Amino acid sequence: MYYEEPLFRPPSEARSLIFQITIGCSSNQCAFCGMYKNKRFRVRDLPEVTEEIREAGSLWPRTRRVFLADGDAFVLSTEELESILDLLERHFPDLSRVGIYVNASNVLTKTDEELRRLAERKLTIGYLGLESGNNTILAAVGKGSTAEEMTEAVQRCQAVGIKMSAMALLGLGGQSMSRAHAADTAKVLNRMNPRFLSLLSFIPVKGTSLFRRIQQGKFMELTSTEVLREMKWIVEGLDLQGTIFRSNHASNYLALAGRFPRDKTRLITEIEECLAVSKGMREEWERGL
Ligand code: SF4
Repeated sequence: MYYEEPLFRPPSEARSLIFQITIGCSSNQCAFCGMYKNKRFRVRDLPEVTEEIREAGSLWPRTRRVFLADGDAFVLSTEELESILDLLERHFPDLSRVGIYVNASNVLTKTDEELRRLAERKLTIGYLGLESGNNTILAAVGKGSTAEEMTEAVQRCQAVGIKMSAMALLGLGGQSMSRAHAADTAKVLNRMNPRFLSLLSFIPVKGTSLFRRIQQGKFMELTSTEVLREMKWIVEGLDLQGTIFRSNHASNYLALAGRFPRDKTRLITEIEECLAVSKGMREEWERGL
């Protein structure tokens, strides 16, 4: 298999066979993201990918899950994606699902009919970085899509059978925008009602513009307690139906898992308990204990 490192995939694709059909991210503009900073975006040659799928099919014919990397593979035209999905079906007879990272703009350039054709070919899970539901924050970090565009992208994908996994970034608004970030993110997530939701925590990455803004004192990061408080505000504001929730990424201070609406109260209690411990530790530290 050919991989141009670094290679990223969502945690839930840990058992999937990965084909890197694009290299890097066509946007590569987000102020917080260092994932593909060292890669120049390109679409890999179809004959090369075809050969790889053929070989992998003979080595691992029982493969059930495939993930298409890199950051922005949905940028391919519907026809290109269809030919890759057809190949996957041919070489992996047990294939049950194909996953992919999506940007709102790449969804919105496709018609409902095109999205349906992709879903019929087992492209049935898409991962979208909402990051924030607040348009001021999205513009400040150069996301390139508005909350409304991302909502439409999620709704249109889900309407044709592509389950969507949305990711939001705790702390992305810094201290000054924490309240607005939480309130608007919950509001937008409620409109999207994604099948899966993950809350990750913003970690400054060297070489990104947000890292530089922190160093220049222009962006005030949240403390761990403030991140937890923001997480509580978001969870309190969520009114989701049938969404599977995870907050167990390595970046998180508190690992949470549950299903909405069933586990909402328990999730809030767990965050409150963690906040109480955090407050107690801080008081002890201030008293010099
Ligand atoms: S967050 Fe996503 S869209 Fe933005 S640069 Fe990183 S991979 Fe690309």
